[in-house]
Amino acid sequence: MRKPLSFEPKGLLTRLLAGRGVSAGLVLLSLCVLAVVWYFTVIRIDNEKQLAIEGSIADSRNVAAIVSANLDEVLGKTLLYARIGQSMLNGEQASSAYFNPLFNGDAAYLRVAVFDARARLVYSSARQKSEPELSRLINAGYMQSLTGQPEQAVSMIISPPSNRDGGSWRVPLLIPLQDGKGELQGFFAAILDLGYFLKTYQEVSVAGSSRIEILNAAGLQLAELAGGILSGGSNYAGQPYATFLLAGKGDGLIHAPRPGDQVALVGVQRRLAHYPLAVVVSRDPEVLLGKLWPAHRQYYLQAMLISLVVLLLAGGLISLAHRRRYLYDQLLFSEREKSGLIHQLEQEKSRAYQLASHDYLTGIPNRMLFYELAATELSRARRSRNLYALFFLDLDKFKLINDTQGHAVGDALLQEVARRLRAAVREYDLVARLGGDEFVVLVSEIRSEEVVAEIADKLVETLRAPYPDLLGCHVETAPSIGIALYPRDGQGIDALMANADAAMYMAKSAGTGLYRFYDASLNAIAVRGLELLGRFRQALKDDEFCLHYQPKAALQDYRVVGMEALIRWQHPEHGLIYPGEFIGLAETHDLVQPLCHWIIEAVCRQQARWREQGVPLVPVAINVSAKQLNDERLIATVRDALQRYRLDAGLLEIEVTESCFIADLEQARQTLEKLRDEGLRIYLDDYGTGYSSLSHIKALPVYALKIDRSFIRDIRNDNSDGMIVASTVTLARNLGLKVVAEGVETREQLMHLKLMGCDEVQGFYVQRPVPAAQLEALLQKGRFEFA
Ligand code: C2E
Ligand code: CA
Ligand code: CA
Repeated sequence: MRKPLSFEPKGLLTRLLAGRGVSAGLVLLSLCVLAVVWYFTVIRIDNEKQLAIEGSIADSRNVAAIVSANLDEVLGKTLLYARIGQSMLNGEQASSAYFNPLFNGDAAYLRVAVFDARARLVYSSARQKSEPELSRLINAGYMQSLTGQPEQAVSMIISPPSNRDGGSWRVPLLIPLQDGKGELQGFFAAILDLGYFLKTYQEVSVAGSSRIEILNAAGLQLAELAGGILSGGSNYAGQPYATFLLAGKGDGLIHAPRPGDQVALVGVQRRLAHYPLAVVVSRDPEVLLGKLWPAHRQYYLQAMLISLVVLLLAGGLISLAHRRRYLYDQLLFSEREKSGLIHQLEQEKSRAYQLASHDYLTGIPNRMLFYELAATELSRARRSRNLYALFFLDLDKFKLINDTQGHAVGDALLQEVARRLRAAVREYDLVARLGGDEFVVLVSEIRSEEVVAEIADKLVETLRAPYPDLLGCHVETAPSIGIALYPRDGQGIDALMANADAAMYMAKSAGTGLYRFYDASLNAIAVRGLELLGRFRQALKDDEFCLHYQPKAALQDYRVVGMEALIRWQHPEHGLIYPGEFIGLAETHDLVQPLCHWIIEAVCRQQARWREQGVPLVPVAINVSAKQLNDERLIATVRDALQRYRLDAGLLEIEVTESCFIADLEQARQTLEKLRDEGLRIYLDDYGTGYSSLSHIKALPVYALKIDRSFIRDIRNDNSDGMIVASTVTLARNLGLKVVAEGVETREQLMHLKLMGCDEVQGFYVQRPVPAAQLEALLQKGRFEFA
C-alpha cells in the first residue's frame, strides 16, 4: 500500500514569503527607508535655509556698508557747507546767490540757512525772510552751545524729522559755528531730505527685499525704505531692536523683532563713525525663506513620492506574503485532504482487490489472482533446473454431495478442502480455487518427476481422508488430479492449465482418487520412482552407487586444479541412473544423509588409492544438499574419513547451493564455518539461479562461486548473460572470491570466459564426468592441452 503523501512546498521565496515574520520585517524595513529619506530631506532644507540666511547677512552687510559710507559722505558735505556759511558770516563770501547745494547737484539738501550768533537769519537758500523750522533748532543748539560740552558744541545736531511733505523726509541739521577763539559766531542749518537719500537705494531695497533704516542715537527712526516705499518715525528707544545703540561702536547683527512684529528680522546694523547715526539693513526671514520654498516644496514632493512608493511596495509585498501564506495553507490543507483520500482509496482498492482476487468462500486466491501469481512464478522458473508442477484437482462426487446433503455442506466441504490443500504444501506454493469443485496447486522447485508423483500421492491422501463432521454430516470424497510440468508441458500458464485440465479428465476417467501426468510417459516414471525408493537403502548396502569425476581446469595455464565427484546409481535392472532421478527422492525421504556419508567415504578411499598408485592428488569436491548441513554428524564423518585415510583436509571440497541458506541460514553458516575451519574449501554451486546478492554471500565462508551453466550456455549470444557473468567476475574479485564457470561446452565459451577474467572452468569441453580410472593419465600429466 502506498504511504499517504506528505507535502512540502518548494522554493526559497515561497517559503520565505509564507513565513509569518516577513510582514513585520517589511514594515520595519520600509520604516527605516522612510526615516532615512525624511532625515536627509529635512537636513538638506535646513542647510539651504542656513546658507540663505548667511548669504543674506553678507548681502545686508554690504548694503549697510555702502549706505553708511554714502551717508557719511553726505554729512561730510554738510560740514563743508557749514564752512561756507561761516565764511559768509565773516563776510568773506561775496555773492551768496550761488550758495545753494541744490545748484551743486546735492539734491538731498532741501535748503540751507546761516544765522548769526543772535539767531538772526543771515542767509536762506530759499530766500526766505525767516526760517521758523530752523530757528527752533537754534534754540536747542544755542542752549547746547552754552551749556553742552565743548566737543558737542562743534558737532552736528540732527533733529528728528519735523514734518513730511511729498514723500521727503526732512531732517533738520544744525551746526553751531565758532571762530578761532571758540566764540560762537553763528549757526549753519540745513534740511536734509533723507527720503531722497534713501531713494537712491530703491533698487537694492526692492530686489533684495531689504529694509534700510537710518536711526539716530536715541533710537528714533529717521527714515526707512522698504519695498521701495519710504516711511519713518518709529521709535525704537528702549526696544531690544535698538539695544546695539547702547553698546560700543562698530557694526553687528540684530537678533530681535521690530516692535509690533512677531518674527525676528535678519538684520545688520552699522554705525557711522563721526555722526550719531546708524544704518540698519534687515530682511524679513519669511520673505527670504519664501524664495526657497519652490525648491523646498520640490524636495518635500520628492520625499513624499519616495515614501509613497516605499509604502506601496511594502504594502504590496506584505499582501503578497499574506496571499502566499493563504495559498500555502490552502495547498497544505488540500494536500492533506488529498493524501487522506488517496489513503482511503488505496484501502478501498486493496479491499476491492482482496474481494476480487480471493475466493469468497474459501479465502484462497481465485482464478484471476492465481493466473497473475503463477505467471510471476513461472518467469522465475526459467532459470531453474528444477521442475514446476501444476496440479489440477477436481472432487469426485461433489455434485452428488451438494445435491443430497445440501449446499451448506457442499460449501463446508470446499472450505475444508482448501484448508487441507494449503496445509499439504509449502508456504510459498500456490493454492487457488477456480470455481465449483476445481482447485489448482502450483508447486515450485521440485527435484524430479518422482517427487512430483509423491506430491500428487500426498494430495490424494489428504483429500481422501474422511470429513467426519461437516455441519453434522459425514462426507467422503476423493480428488482426481491432472499434472502438467513446466517447461515440458507448456511454457506459459495457459498451456499448463489446459494440459493439466486434460490430464485431470484422464485421471477421472480412469477411476477415483487417481492422478495422471499430461505426458503419459511420466506415469511410468512415477511408478519407477516408487520402485527406486523402495530399493534405495538396499542399494547403499549392496554398493550399487558409484562416483564419476569431472575435473576443473585453471584458465590461466589449463592445469588440473580439482575434480567434482558426481553420484551415479548402477541399477541391476535399469542400468546407470543419473542423480537427477534419485537425489530429489533421497532428499524428501531422509536418505540423503546415508548417501552423503557413503560419498565422503568413497571419495577419501579413492584419494588414498591414487596416492598409493603414485597419481598426483588434486582436491575433490562433493555436492552437499541443504538438509545435510543440519546433520551434526557431517563434520565428524569428514574428520574421521580424512584421519582414517591420512588425507590432508585441503583434498576435500564442499559444493553447496543457495537453497541451503533458505531454510536455516544460521545453521548452514555455522556448519560451513566449521568445515572451513577444518580446512575445506566451500564452493557456492549454481550461482545466479537463486536470490543471493554478492554482499549477502560475503558474510558466508565461501571460497569460490560456480556460475550456473545456464549463464554460460548463451554467453556469446545473449548480451545480458554475458554482462551478468562479466560483472559477477568483477564483483567476486573485489570480494576476494574465486570464480568457476561450469557447463563449458565449446572452445568459444572457454575463450570468452578467459577474456572476462574467470579463474577456472568445468564442462564437457574440458572433460565429461568419467569413472576414476579414466582420469589417471590426465592426473599424471597435470594439465589439459587444448588445440
Ligand atoms: P551440479 O552439481 O551442477 O553438477 C554438474 C552437473 O552438470 C552434472 O550432472 C554434470 O554431469 C553436468 N555437466 C557437467 N558439465 C556439463 C556441460 O558441459 N554441459 C552440461 N549440459 N552438463 C554438464 P549430473 O551428474 O547429472 O548431476 C546433476 C546434479 O545432481 C548436480 O548438479 C548436483 O546438484 C546433483 N548431484 C550430483 N552428484 C551429487 C552428489 O553426490 N550429492 C548430491 N547431494 N547431489 C549430487
Ligand atoms: Ca556441483
Ligand atoms: Ca552446478
